[in-house]
Amino acid sequence: MRKNSRVSLGEINKEDLPLPYVNYPNHYGTFITFSPTDLGDVYLCECAKKSVVSYFEYKGKLPKRNNADALRMAPLDSNYWSTILAHKSLVEKAHPLEWLKYKSGLCHKCNRVIPAMRYCLPMYGNNFIQRFGWYLNQSELEQRKAIELGKPHKQVEKELRKELGFKKVKGTWTIDNKPTGDMQLIAHIGKT
Ligand SMILES: [Zn+2]
Repeated sequence: MRKNSRVSLGEINKEDLPLPYVNYPNHYGTFITFSPTDLGDVYLCECAKKSVVSYFEYKGKLPKRNNADALRMAPLDSNYWSTILAHKSLVEKAHPLEWLKYKSGLCHKCNRVIPAMRYCLPMYGNNFIQRFGWYLNQSELEQRKAIELGKPHKQVEKELRKELGFKKVKGTWTIDNKPTGDMQLIAHIGKT
C-alpha cells in the first residue's frame, strides 16, 4: 500500500494501466489523461466524457475573470486540466471538444486501481478523497445540475464509492467480495 504517495502537482507518472503514462492535472484539478508513451498523444477515458461536456456548460456560465495567468483563462483552465492541455487549448483554434480524444477503459476507476499519486494531503480530505479526488470532481461536474437541485455532495461520493466496488458494512466502507482487477489494493482504503 502506497501510504506515503506524493500529492500530485501535475506530474506524468508511469502506472499499471492500459495506457501507462498518467498525466495528472494541477493540484486539486479534475481531468487525468493517459498516454502510451511519455511524449505520446494523450487520451481521456471514455467515462469522463459527460463531465468534460458538463465542464464546458458550467464554465460558460461563470462570470468572466481577469486572471493574469493565461493558463487559468485558457479554454482548458489549468485549475481543472494539466498544464500541457491548458497550453494546447490556447494554441489550437478549434474548440477542445473537437480535438480531445477518448478511449474506453483507460482510467483508475474503470480498472479499479488506486492512483499512485494523492489528490491532497490528509488534512484536506478523507482517505477516499485523498486517492480519488479527481474522480469525485468529475462525478460532481457530471451531476452538477442534480447538486444544484439539492443532491448532497456526500451522496455523489457514496455513489462513486459504489461504482468502485465499495460497500458499507457496519459503518465502515469495505470492498465488494467479487474480486475484480486490482481490488485488493482498494481493500486497504475502506476506512475513512
Ligand atoms: Zn474510466
